[in-house]
Amino acid sequence: MTQTQSDTGILAGEQRMLIDGELRHTDGGALFDVVHPGNEQVVGQVSDGTLTDMDRAVGAARRAFDDTEWSRDLDFRYHCLMQLHAALERNKERLRRIVVTEVGCPVSVTGSQIEDPIDEVRHWAEHGRDFEYLVDTGIHKAPMGTARRTISYEPVGVVGAITPWNVPFYLNIAETIPALMAGNTVVLKPAQLTPWSGSELGRIVAEETDIPAGVFNVVTSNANGVGAALSADPRVDMITFTGSTATGRAILAAAAPTVKRTMMELGGKSAHIVLDDAKLEKCLPMAAMVACVMSGQACIMASRILLPRSRYAEGIEILKASMEATSVGDPWDPSVLQGPQISETQRQKVLGLIKSGVDSGARLVTGGGIPEALPVGYYTQPTLLADVDPDSQIAQEEIFGPVLTVTPYDTDDEAVAIANNSIYGLSGEVTGVDTERAFCIARRLRTGNVTVNGRSHFGITSPFGGTKQSGLGRRNGAEGFKEYLESKTIGHPA
Ligand code: NAD
Repeated sequence: MTQTQSDTGILAGEQRMLIDGELRHTDGGALFDVVHPGNEQVVGQVSDGTLTDMDRAVGAARRAFDDTEWSRDLDFRYHCLMQLHAALERNKERLRRIVVTEVGCPVSVTGSQIEDPIDEVRHWAEHGRDFEYLVDTGIHKAPMGTARRTISYEPVGVVGAITPWNVPFYLNIAETIPALMAGNTVVLKPAQLTPWSGSELGRIVAEETDIPAGVFNVVTSNANGVGAALSADPRVDMITFTGSTATGRAILAAAAPTVKRTMMELGGKSAHIVLDDAKLEKCLPMAAMVACVMSGQACIMASRILLPRSRYAEGIEILKASMEATSVGDPWDPSVLQGPQISETQRQKVLGLIKSGVDSGARLVTGGGIPEALPVGYYTQPTLLADVDPDSQIAQEEIFGPVLTVTPYDTDDEAVAIANNSIYGLSGEVTGVDTERAFCIARRLRTGNVTVNGRSHFGITSPFGGTKQSGLGRRNGAEGFKEYLESKTIGHPA
C-alpha cells in the first residue's frame, strides 16, 4: 500500500535502494513498512535490503574508489555536488513532506531539517573546491640532510555512513556530502524508522546528477545486522555514525579488527546552568520550547535545568506555565510546535523513564502521560520533573522525549559539578546577565559545545561533536572536512 494524501501532506518516498548506480529492489523484492507517527498508519514501504545488498554496495564503492578518477578529479566532484544542490532545491517540498511523514516532526520546524542541509551541500562543494590539499611546511633538519616536507591531504577511501531517525535527511547530508567532496566513496545505511530520507537522496543522485555508479550507494534495511556488516567489512576504511551511545560502542567493536577510522556522534544529557542573576522570564520559556519542539528527540537538547536555590520556586512556576502552553498535535498543522514521538516503543521508553523519576523521589510538576485529546498518534505530554536527584536514572539517562528535569544548586561550583556528573559530554548551556561569568562557567563544562545566553554554538562553519561518551571527532567547520581526509607527510629534496 502506498498512500499519497494531499489533504494531510503525507507522501510516500522511493522504495528502491541505490547500488552501483542502479535503483533496485532487493532480490526477491522484500519490503518493510513505513509508519506515520502522527496517525499510526502504514503509509508505504521500502526495500528490505540484505547482507547480499550490503556486500554489493560495499564492493561497488570499493571499485569506484580504487578504479575511477573520482578521488582525484576535484573539478568533477564540485560539478556533481553543485548539480546535487540544484536537484535538492527542485525536490525541496517533496523532501519536506517525506520528512514530516516518516519522522512526524512539525512542518513548522522543518527549515533546519530541509533548507539548512540543502545549503550545506553547496557549502561543502565550495569548501572542498577551495581547500588546500598540498601544504608546504618548509625546510626541516633531518639526520640524512635537510628535507622539505609537504603535507598531502588525501581521501580516506570507502566511507560507511550510518544514520539515526531523529533528523534523518539533515544527518544523511551531514554524514555523506563532506565525505564525497573530500574524494571518498560512500555507502549510506539510513535508520529503519526513516528510510525514505535516504532512499530519496539515492533516487535524486541517480536520476538528477552525474555522480558515477558506485560512488554513492544507499542500502535500506529493517535489520540491524546489515549496518553491523557495513561496520565490520574490511573493504570499508571509515565509519561515520550518528546514533545512540550503545550502538556506537557496538560499531567501534566491529570496526576494531580492521582498525577503521571512526567518527561518532552519540547521545547527550546536556545541562543548562541558570545563574542567580539570570532573567528567568526570558530564558526559561525558551528552554521549555526547545525541549518540546522536536518532541525532545534532539541530541543537543539541554534536558537538565539547574536552578539556583534562591530562585527555585520562581523558576519552576515559569517552566510549568511554558510547558503547559506548548501546542502539541498534528505535525501538518503549521501552528503546532510539538508533534508525536517517532514510535510507540520510543513513547513507552519516555513514559517509563518519567515513572522511574517519580519512583526515585522526583516531583511531577506537569505532564507525565498521553494527552487526552490525542489518543491516536504517539503523542506525549510536555513533562516537568522537579527535585531531581542528579544521580538518579532520570538525570543520567538520555530520555529523548519532551521532558525537563530540574535540580537546585547553591554555588556556581556545585552547578558545574552537577552539569559534569554525566557519562555524556555533547552540549550545554549557561545563562546569566554577567556574560563574562557565564562564559567562564561555559569553559568549565566538559562538553563539545556550549550556548551562552541563548547564542547558538551550532552552525556549518563551527566544529560540532561530543566529549566523553558523546562521541569521537567533529562535524562541521574546517575540522569536520579534515575528518574525511588522511594527511600524508612527504619528505623531499628542498
Ligand atoms: P540507534 O543507535 O538505535 O540507531 C542508529 C543507526 O544505527 C540506525 O541506522 C540503526 O539501524 C543502526 N544500527 C543499529 N544497530 C547497529 C549495529 N549493531 N551496527 C551498525 N548499525 C546499527 O539510534 P537512534 O535511536 O536511531 O537515534 C537516536 C540516538 O541518536 C540518540 O541517542 C541521539 O542522541 C543520537 N543522536 C546523536 C546526534 C549527535 O550529533 N551527537 C545527533 C542525532 C542523534
